[in-house]
Amino acid sequence: MRIERRVFEAVKAHCEDEYPREGCGVLGGDPETGVVTSSSPVENAARHEGFDVYYMDPVEQLETFEALERAGLSREGFYHSHPDHGAYFSRMDRESALVEGEPLHPGETYLVLSVVDGKCRGASAFGWGGNGFVEEGFEVL
Ligand SMILES: [Zn+2]
Repeated sequence: MRIERRVFEAVKAHCEDEYPREGCGVLGGDPETGVVTSSSPVENAARHEGFDVYYMDPVEQLETFEALERAGLSREGFYHSHPDHGAYFSRMDRESALVEGEPLHPGETYLVLSVVDGKCRGASAFGWGGNGFVEEGFEVL
């Protein structure tokens, strides 16, 4: 994943603001280059707090997809934070990204941010590798 710096800063700020809850949202980009040029926070509709508990409000998520389409942007993926945990793809993340063993959003990237004591300490990107989720390159432009 390649992401514009101002977009990455906005994603970090959102996840830090949400701490100690998880922040989550949708990433849009340039359809030709795949560079992430926009981020849209989505309400975390999870009822419980805690590590890796998030559930994007489905109506808001759909509205975000539609807004990206109207703006001529491609869907590049999703982001969420791990409060007080590292930036890895958890078992919960794998389960929620799969339906009957198949990826729900093939070709899209999941950006995971580690937020410790309210500060972003790192980020990693994960995508479907054909036989499971694998870490992808991650570059802030
Ligand atoms: Zn997670």
